[in-house]
Amino acid sequence: MTSKIKIKYTQLFINNEFIDSESGKKFPVINPATEEEIVQVSEGLKEDIDKAVKAAKEAFARGSEWRNLQPTQRAGLLNKLADLMERDAQQIGHIQTLENGKPFAHSAGETHMAAGVLRYYAGWCDKIHGQTIPTDDGSLVMTRKEPMGVAGQITPWNYPVMLFALKLGPALATGCTLVLKPAEQTPLCNLYIAALTKEAGFPAGVVNVVPGFGPTAGAALAEHPDVAKVAFTGSVAVGKSIMKASGSSNLKRVTLELGGKSPLIIFDDVDVDEAVKLAHDAIFNFSGQICIAAARTYVHSKIYDEFVEKSKKLAVKRILGDPFDPKTEQGPQVEKDMFEKVMGYIKTGDVEGATLVAGGKRHGNCGYFIQPTIFADVTDEMTIAKEEIFGPVQAILKFDKIEDVIERANKTTYGLGAGVLTKDINKALKFAQEIESGTVWVNQYASLMPQTPFGGFKQSGIGRELGAESLDYYLETKTISIKLASV
Ligand code: ADP
Repeated sequence: MTSKIKIKYTQLFINNEFIDSESGKKFPVINPATEEEIVQVSEGLKEDIDKAVKAAKEAFARGSEWRNLQPTQRAGLLNKLADLMERDAQQIGHIQTLENGKPFAHSAGETHMAAGVLRYYAGWCDKIHGQTIPTDDGSLVMTRKEPMGVAGQITPWNYPVMLFALKLGPALATGCTLVLKPAEQTPLCNLYIAALTKEAGFPAGVVNVVPGFGPTAGAALAEHPDVAKVAFTGSVAVGKSIMKASGSSNLKRVTLELGGKSPLIIFDDVDVDEAVKLAHDAIFNFSGQICIAAARTYVHSKIYDEFVEKSKKLAVKRILGDPFDPKTEQGPQVEKDMFEKVMGYIKTGDVEGATLVAGGKRHGNCGYFIQPTIFADVTDEMTIAKEEIFGPVQAILKFDKIEDVIERANKTTYGLGAGVLTKDINKALKFAQEIESGTVWVNQYASLMPQTPFGGFKQSGIGRELGAESLDYYLETKTISIKLASV
């Protein structure tokens, strides 16, 4: 595996300094393509979270340095950070690929997209303001939008750079300070960007990054009484525990971006080759480890057999291997546990009677690679049609009528993404309006832009990231009511 990157940052980043954890404990970060240890990283525990939150709280309290800094200066810092990320996109991409096995071109591309997200939020810094409101009693009433305070941010391993930007952007644009706990699988790329925040000139304590595990460092952040808000991306189970921690501590504001079991509906009027390719990318990109992966492919019965046959041809051609090789289309699953979980679902698919059309096995004997796997004749009751697999497993289901397929697509506790492919605008819009999903893609899939709100219906989450409304989740509205004397 080709990587010449030397890992520079392996400690906690608090108050603009890299420091060891109080306990001195460390944990290994593993390369999922080789199963080898990359490096040992300092492990943050409760006392380290306390230290980081204190730093963030003090930075928030020193108003002139951050929350009351001229908005254009705050924007300048965010833009500077975006510049530095673009400058170092190759290094950051390399580090991410080492940690989570994402094909290198995708990791480097993700860094550029993340820089774009920061620029989007830089543009908001001087456009956050309240209203003046006419009232019955003639008072002069105005509202101010004020930053909540310290934001606690907890991220997963699948898009660590993009999610860093999604969390940092709105927090910093609104004038909050933050403590981010990256996933234990991918702390290194986030620590590298933490160093860039210092180089960009962010004041000490505004951005703090504490690597560690969920039940210790993550839970300490979610429970901390000085954290005003938690933004979390990850599993439904942990999302629920974060809501609970908020309720039993200080009623901190909570936004959650959780899992999905996204449906992609393909009508019989499509170009089948194009649809097969789109559906293939929609599930197999990054080894299926995407919360919006199109995990349920519903295909109209008139084109079903052709669609399955062509999907198989594409899947068996997919190139797996070294994520640093430019020819590689699919790297490994992120870790052993996830690998085993996905293999377990493949077995369940078989046992429950779905037809295995392609893949189904481990690829090679080193690294957590799984062959692109396709099941046909999948029914809604099967486990592989209901549970989030988070792996390269395409479940292809059959449908005839639009009403039925919408009802079936909605029969899930999730509601993150959905797609529809058809030339018929009426079908597309009926589906778009009736599907219970935070985002609906028509004749495309998984395009996310900084300007467009992203989040889930039902148990896929609470709140939205990206887009203008994402700022509201970091702001409190203060109403100032002024009695005017008659003159
Ligand atoms: P995934 O299955 O994608 O790894 P998780 O929800 O387990 O999703 O993890 C996402 C993030 O949440 C990681 O940073 C992880 O360390 C953190 N996490 C896990 N458990 C907890 C917890 N009990 N409290 C807070 N954070 C947690």
